[in-house]
Amino acid sequence: MSCQSSEELNELLLEAKHYTKYGTVADYIPALKKANPHDLSAAIYYPDGTCLSAGDIQQKMTLQSISKVLTLALALMDCGEESVFHKVGYEPTGDPFHSILKLELNNPSKPLNPMINAGALAVTHMIKGKNIEERFQRILHFVHELTGNSKITYSQEVAKSEFETSFINRSLCYYMKQDGIITEDVEELICLYTKQCAIELDCFDLARIGVVFAMDGVEPMTGKRLLPADIARLCKTFMVTCGMYNASGEFASKVGIPAKSGVSGGIMGAVPNRLGIGVFGPALDHKGNSIAGVKLLEMLSKKYSWSMF
Ligand code: GLU
Repeated sequence: MSCQSSEELNELLLEAKHYTKYGTVADYIPALKKANPHDLSAAIYYPDGTCLSAGDIQQKMTLQSISKVLTLALALMDCGEESVFHKVGYEPTGDPFHSILKLELNNPSKPLNPMINAGALAVTHMIKGKNIEERFQRILHFVHELTGNSKITYSQEVAKSEFETSFINRSLCYYMKQDGIITEDVEELICLYTKQCAIELDCFDLARIGVVFAMDGVEPMTGKRLLPADIARLCKTFMVTCGMYNASGEFASKVGIPAKSGVSGGIMGAVPNRLGIGVFGPALDHKGNSIAGVKLLEMLSKKYSWSMF
């Protein structure tokens, strides 16, 4: 399956691209520093299998925080809503994604939602499998199903680079271990989590993931249900309330679609019942979202009335 380059999308992309100069590439994971801040690409995937693209959509990115939506779906399928939300809350935080602040303020230290790092680590902890390799293979298999692309694997370089520098994520885990939210070995969990974040794909793959969420869990071309509708809806709710870090409120006002971004510069969006979109622009704003990617989504939403509000 391929994507057709679109003149109309390209015009908007070129306009949005001007904003890349105001952003910076994430550097707290050393391997991410290598990205070109001026890159910007996008793909839109429709339920009938049509795909429109602009920019170099062959460019690969790592999932980073976008993986949190997928592990949430998997943990919900594994353990059910009650068990998952026994350990993680439903509420946005307004804090940066790896903040430890609310864990300290709440007693017992339950992370406020599954989209911040503490919550995502607790969610990954709940994914079933007899060892971390099997649990990782289950996550990867889910990505293969959602994208229809079984070639997807992970970047060993990015995983290693993050594993070696995950000081804050280790701190979050130990904090939660004290309160019994996490019971497994922290090094093993960090190893699994850094691999999940390092899964490598492109905008087209992201758009295909987006369309499955847009269609409430059904892959539209095959008609195959990949996740239950109530779980797809729950994931989309978190994408709206906390998917764009502590800029989720502004994004909901200006774009109005469920979306999740990652520090690699990727954004996966789902316009309910209409389409999936994948964007890659590694220059980030000060909250960690792709600066030009958000601009592009703003322009698209305005032009094609995507907002669900
Ligand atoms: N692997 C990153 C971390 O945990 C993901 C952060 C993100 O994309 O927001 O720090």
